[in-house]
Amino acid sequence: MQTTFSLAQLADPHVAEAEKILRKCVHCGFCTATCPTYVTLGNELDSPRGRIYLIKDMLENGRPADAEIVTHIDRCLSCLACMTTCPSGVHYMHLVDHARAHIEETYRRPIIDRAIRSVLAQVLPYPARFRAALKLAALGRPFAPLFAKVKALKPLAAMLAMAPRAVPAASAVSTPATHVATGVKRGRVALLTGCAQSVLDPAINEATVRLLTRLGVEVVVAEGEACCGALVHHMGREEAALAAARTNVDAWTREIERGGLDAVIITASGCGTTIKDYGFMLRLDPAYAGKAARVSALAKDVTEYLASVDLPEPSLKPGLAVAYHSACSMQHGQKITRQPKDLLKRAGFDVREPKEGHLCCGSAGTYNILQPDIAGKLRTRKVANIEATGAALVATGNIGCMTQIGGGTAMPVVHTVELLDWAWGGPRPEGVGDR
Ligand code: SF4
Ligand code: SF4
Repeated sequence: MQTTFSLAQLADPHVAEAEKILRKCVHCGFCTATCPTYVTLGNELDSPRGRIYLIKDMLENGRPADAEIVTHIDRCLSCLACMTTCPSGVHYMHLVDHARAHIEETYRRPIIDRAIRSVLAQVLPYPARFRAALKLAALGRPFAPLFAKVKALKPLAAMLAMAPRAVPAASAVSTPATHVATGVKRGRVALLTGCAQSVLDPAINEATVRLLTRLGVEVVVAEGEACCGALVHHMGREEAALAAARTNVDAWTREIERGGLDAVIITASGCGTTIKDYGFMLRLDPAYAGKAARVSALAKDVTEYLASVDLPEPSLKPGLAVAYHSACSMQHGQKITRQPKDLLKRAGFDVREPKEGHLCCGSAGTYNILQPDIAGKLRTRKVANIEATGAALVATGNIGCMTQIGGGTAMPVVHTVELLDWAWGGPRPEGVGDR
């Protein structure tokens, strides 16, 4: 694609990066067929190619974002299916991240939208605040149907509807500690305990620590570790996202210097995509660029790491049929497709792959709160495909997908690592029956 940025515009490294990406697009439109919002809404402006044109026009003309571009960029799930499909290697993720930051800087959203986004940014990344908010949600739940009738308040209704009725107790695994390996130590990793996941489902990190230590891997929960920054990053709040990235880079660099790390283990693929991008996000910060690139290189999804470990025979082969849902951040963001399925098969599960596996379930960070109508349609479609497999349960590697899919089906939805922990000697995951 031809671009007409001026030399003065290209002096801004963010614009220069965007220009490089735009020039790679050859307008072929292959990406439209796999874009969930295009498939759902049928509007070219809600396709990757349409959004690329909108972003190009905004940036080339150096103009502030307007309501039209905000509408179409807000509807983008950042699922990155378009990046998997694109034959030209267009890095849509970096382009849309920059567009979101530009929107945040130049566009004043309506007051209710601003307020809801501020609450999400101030609550979700902080486990204590999030826990308190979930408890408060119980009081607000009766008003959800009322809020759902007012367009601007639909996100509030979605938040209340999604809040679990019971909040699990805080887990000891979420506090900084070193979990010693059982038997001969054969590795040392840091575990990102995360923010929302550690509150909604602490059993995931508990299973991870149990399984890794049982396999001889020492697991460190680093002092000072925080939310990965993905939630604010996807809202265009760049400074907050970079601050979160620096905090984690510092925490894991201290652990690298203290005892060495073979990997930084991530159990939520949404976080994994962002941490693997820290090197890019902090590339312009001379104090952090090198350290961030090192952390990104160490970042591994738990299944990616387990696939590199010499596993013994599982102690139990449950033999259940499992529908494996590959989160977008897993398959498109990190290109991890084979390892989770191979591990589940190795553990004796009958792995079934739902149709349209490339399409997002509608979770996408805060998307199911901010765009509840589109998210609801995508969930209905995803759940129908999952249920059609006839599997007994669903496994996935991202807490957002677990919450989104779990809200639309009676099937148990668990994290892949919980099933692996079970097969290799851990307890049966809650809600999962055996044969
Ligand atoms: S990230 Fe997903 S929703 Fe956004 S343009 Fe690409 S395919 Fe469409
Ligand atoms: S598939 Fe790639 S090159 Fe083709 S229109 Fe989409 S982004 Fe552009």
